[in-house]
Amino acid sequence: KANRMFHPENTVISIEGAEVGGERLAVIAGPCSVESEAQIVGIARQVKESGATLLRGGAFKPRTSPYSFQGMREEGLELLKIARQETGLPIVSELMSIQMLEQFVETVDVIQIGARNMQNFDLLKEVGKTSKPVLLKRGLSATIEELLMSAEYIMAEGNENVILCERGIRTFETYTRNTLDLSAVLALKRLSHLPVVVDPSHAAGMWWMVEALSKAAIAVGADGVMIEVHNDPTNAKCDGAQSIKPERFAVLMQSLRELARIE
Ligand code: PEP
Ligand code: MN
Repeated sequence: KANRMFHPENTVISIEGAEVGGERLAVIAGPCSVESEAQIVGIARQVKESGATLLRGGAFKPRTSPYSFQGMREEGLELLKIARQETGLPIVSELMSIQMLEQFVETVDVIQIGARNMQNFDLLKEVGKTSKPVLLKRGLSATIEELLMSAEYIMAEGNENVILCERGIRTFETYTRNTLDLSAVLALKRLSHLPVVVDPSHAAGMWWMVEALSKAAIAVGADGVMIEVHNDPTNAKCDGAQSIKPERFAVLMQSLRELARIE
């Protein structure tokens, strides 16, 4: 179902006024984790002002250590709703368990399936039974074929609103958090009609690489970027080192405007 051979034209996914895969670049911005009402609403207002088209924010966090901040959970979802109300930006948040599916369907505009759950096939099937747009992130060590097969799991159940996300993969290189596989964008666009977005923040793990990698993503034909933005990266509860401040995000958006059509 994801194969371009049987569906030559690009799929455009409409999300409450925003679009992914259309003429305009989709820009999903926001903090790794929702931390407070002031934080998420403040960031949402600023990224909206700069031209972001969707707001991201983790409420349930898949952390490597069980002792790390696990997210604000249901309360985080409530705060995302407030941020959407204040800005009109549709919200994207990661679903980790089938238990929370119903609440996510009611609350968020895009369900994010994280890299660690890319091959959680039961979760994919359940998400496939809904009609909610899904942002499917490439697994830490997943091949392009495996990512596409995970998209198939969702689509086979009837939900064809799948956005693919390249977020860097594990290689022998340790300087960067992951290795951004830009050729995956080219391959995915060739093999599939689904929109492809790039997450340079998780790929690099370093804030100062985010702008240049975003430009590179556009140059290879990505339909959008997902960028972590935090008001106080030094004290962020998650992924501060790769997060840019709202002011820098505004500068980044200006330079992306030279390369792509943005709202
Ligand atoms: C995230 O988007 O904050 C995240 C946890 O991403 P990934 O699943 O790609 O690691
Ligand atoms: Mn993160």
